[in-house]
Amino acid sequence: MQALTTRSKVAVNKKMTFKERLYIPAILGGLSITLRHFFKKKVTIQYPEQTREFAPVYRGHHVLKRDENGAERCTACGLCAVACPAEAITMVAAERKKGEEALYREEKYAAVYEINMLRCIFCGLCEEACPKEAIFLTDEMVLTDYGRKGFVHGKDKLVEPMDKDKRIDVSKRQTKEVAEFKTHPEFAHNQLYTKSLK
Ligand code: SF4
Ligand code: SF4
Repeated sequence: MQALTTRSKVAVNKKMTFKERLYIPAILGGLSITLRHFFKKKVTIQYPEQTREFAPVYRGHHVLKRDENGAERCTACGLCAVACPAEAITMVAAERKKGEEALYREEKYAAVYEINMLRCIFCGLCEEACPKEAIFLTDEMVLTDYGRKGFVHGKDKLVEPMDKDKRIDVSKRQTKEVAEFKTHPEFAHNQLYTKSLK
C-alpha cells in the first residue's frame, strides 16, 4: 500500500539496544528539553488575571442592531440563517401591528431570533448576508454557561439596548472597503445605515 505521507515510519519489532534498555539517556534527553524551555520566554499568561489584547478584527458575540430611532432593524428575511454554514440561526417571523412602528422598522420582524453559540463558528457570514445591517459580530466574548441550553442566545441577549448611551458601535469594525461598498448607490444595503456613517 502506498503511504499518504513521506514522514511515515514502518514499525519494526526490533530488540532494544543496551543504551535504550538503560532508559537514563532518554530521561536525561527529556529533562534537557524541559530545562531549555524553563529559561525561555513563557508563551502562556496568567489568565484570567492577565488578558491579551484582541485583534481588531476579532469576531465575537453577535448584536442585533436598532436604528437611530430605537426600532429593531431585523426584518426576519432569513438570509443570515441561509448563509450560516453551521445552521446556528433560527427565527420566527411576525407581522408588525399598528402602533408598533417605533419597535420594529419593517413590516415584518423577528418575534423569535436565536443563535446557538455552540454551533456558531464566528465566520461572520450572517453579517455579510444581512441586507438590513441588522446583525453584526462584536468584539465581546461569548460568556460561558453551565448547560447547553444557556448557549442558545435569544433576542434578550442579542438585541442591543434601547438606551442610546449603551448602543454598540460597530462602525469602527467595518473595513474601509466594506464601508465604501455599503455607500455604493447600486449596492447600498441600507440607506439609513449609510447615512449614519456620514
Ligand atoms: S458567525 Fe457564521 S456560524 Fe456564526 S451564526 Fe453567523 S454565519 Fe452562522
Ligand atoms: S438579521 Fe438581517 S439577514 Fe438575518 S433575518 Fe434579520 S434582516 Fe434578515
